[in-house]
Amino acid sequence: MYAEVVLSRVSKDIDKIYHYSIPHKLKDKAQIGAQVLVHFGARKDIGYIIGLLEKSTVKKTKDIIEVTSDFPLFTKESVNLARWLSDYYLSFFISSLRAVMPPGTGAKEKTSLKGKKKKKKSRVPSPKSKEEVEIGEPLQATPEQRKALDLIFESLKKKEAKTILLYGITGSGKTEVYLQVIAELLKQGKGSIVLVPEISLTPQLVERFRDRFKDHISILHSHMTVKQRNFEWLRIAKGESQIVLGTRGAIFAPVKNLSLIVIDEEYEITFKQEQNPKYHARVVAEHLSKEKGAVLILGSATPSIETFYKAEKGEYKKAILPKRIDDRPLPPVDIVDMRQEIKAGNRGVLSRKLKEEIKETLSRREQLILFLNRRGYFTFVMCRECGYTVECPRCSVSLVYHSKERKLRCNHCSFSSEAPIICPKCQSSSIRYFGTGTQRIEQEVAETFPRAKIIRVDRDTVKKRGSHEVIFAAFKEGKANVLIGTQMVTKGLDVAKVTLVGVVAADTAFNIPDFRSSEHTFQLLTQVAGRAGRHNLPGKVIIQTYNPDHYAIRHASKHDYEGFYNEEIKLREDVGYPPFKKLINVLVSGEEEKKAQKLANDLLKFIEKRTGSSSGVLGPVPPAFPKIRGNYRFQILLKTEDLNKARKAVAESLEKVVRLQGVRVSVDVEPVNML
Ligand code: ADP
Ligand code: ZN
Ligand code: ZN
Repeated sequence: MYAEVVLSRVSKDIDKIYHYSIPHKLKDKAQIGAQVLVHFGARKDIGYIIGLLEKSTVKKTKDIIEVTSDFPLFTKESVNLARWLSDYYLSFFISSLRAVMPPGTGAKEKTSLKGKKKKKKSRVPSPKSKEEVEIGEPLQATPEQRKALDLIFESLKKKEAKTILLYGITGSGKTEVYLQVIAELLKQGKGSIVLVPEISLTPQLVERFRDRFKDHISILHSHMTVKQRNFEWLRIAKGESQIVLGTRGAIFAPVKNLSLIVIDEEYEITFKQEQNPKYHARVVAEHLSKEKGAVLILGSATPSIETFYKAEKGEYKKAILPKRIDDRPLPPVDIVDMRQEIKAGNRGVLSRKLKEEIKETLSRREQLILFLNRRGYFTFVMCRECGYTVECPRCSVSLVYHSKERKLRCNHCSFSSEAPIICPKCQSSSIRYFGTGTQRIEQEVAETFPRAKIIRVDRDTVKKRGSHEVIFAAFKEGKANVLIGTQMVTKGLDVAKVTLVGVVAADTAFNIPDFRSSEHTFQLLTQVAGRAGRHNLPGKVIIQTYNPDHYAIRHASKHDYEGFYNEEIKLREDVGYPPFKKLINVLVSGEEEKKAQKLANDLLKFIEKRTGSSSGVLGPVPPAFPKIRGNYRFQILLKTEDLNKARKAVAESLEKVVRLQGVRVSVDVEPVNML
């Protein structure tokens, strides 16, 4: 017998399958999923068996030295999944295989295996009969939930590999729908995976799932230790738990009889992994759904444009939960035109209106949240008189200011222009390079309201004080009445006394040079607005903006997703962005600028020739961050209707174009982060 082995090192040169012979003494242990020690060149290396062969085409094979794992780390099915991942995302096979292996497999393997054994022993006191499935009581479904449940069960019964969009605002009862479907499947001995964005995996949510599913659930997220995750992974693999609640990577959990995948808030950028394999959990979920005939539910109030488009076309089914369970209306949203503030001589961060509302909220002894978008730390150019921002005439994304050369550049194409000193639209000289921080807001609030008790939440304060949950808890207990924060405050925070939410600078989000910036702005504003008036006290939302007529802001202020979608989808079609065209981003980087540029040019030429007219190939251009940690970067962007063909062309270019030493190439298929 022979084994197909991949080596555990990540390197282009050894991204292949090697054949080894299996000595008789190892014939039982050398199975698919085994970790093995093998000779490779002059050294010994760790590898994994991904297949078994009766015969080998290789003339002289070496023996496997030793099997170093006690049990298979993955199945044949996982190997197929890893292969699909590598093909789809053009990543090394071993990187993809890592994603489907128990967490921490590799360097820390020995310790994690030991940890598992100990725990296993301690679990043997509580023997349980397989039959009994003890779970918590469901709530009586509302008529809307009933309709959604019926639609989902219909697909489950038919074993249709269907994707269902569960479209409903926060508090409309989506989670209860997930819980009831999962409970029914559990009774039938079937498994489920529920994915949520990192930030939504709050203790309250975990508690809710645990209350319902007791021991049948495993939680998986990146804040757990490798040991903890490894332990849960093995419980899942053994079928001891049939339900997984986790973040992105949990999509690979080896759930037995997987019949349902739920992705909550599927539009969140954290579902895309930024390291190899650069997968999107939704794309993997759709693949798994097709492979296993499982149902995929995407739940959101603000679905990604791609998802809503598919639902509109009938490719996805759609279930709607139109109102909050408690029938509480969404808070009214006021837009403040910041251009008028400048005209009135107010150069501060807070508008007169927002200050007035803060004052009233504080005098009523209620609480408020001031929100600032962190990703808006970008330097972009905007006129404070008229709100004009400089956009690329070809790509309709805002241009990024590169301070070194004092130029504006498009990070999607080669367009560049001088940074204007006078606003091209209104001729005022109030054109500025933007960026406001939470500290600045804190300072202004403290000066205006000396008696306000303020808590600031951002990466710095979270580092100092522990998790943001600790900070939220303090706020909830009333230890402060003003919370100032970034993205972290958009979710999971449910405080009865919060009656005012102020979005300090709504514009920062859509000036990010990314074609999804309007979408992100809309989603963000909707999320933030949902923090106000969640209980008995009525809430209010103020959005400060220099672009009050921008469609993302207009529609967000009316809580009108579909209005926003209708405008956005037209734009996407006109400019040729997803869902109409697919993107592949090829990033070339190296310490020597000339060399990096040369390789980028060579790759571009090759790719252009291969794709012909089926793809637009743009670049190479310096991206928004043209130099990171001493490395010069060049970007090639493929816009295509034929993702397979474009992907093949890129893969071939990686094989055939002569590489230059010290220059790296990184490929991102269907990128989310365009910076
Ligand atoms: P979403 O996931 O859309 O935010 P949830 O499922 O969390 O909505 O429901 C919002 C609130 O309403 C929760 O407190 C939940 O316990 C409650 N709830 C959900 N469904 C029902 C129901 N059928 N009957 C009573 N309360 C419900
Ligand atoms: Zn451009
Ligand atoms: Zn202007």
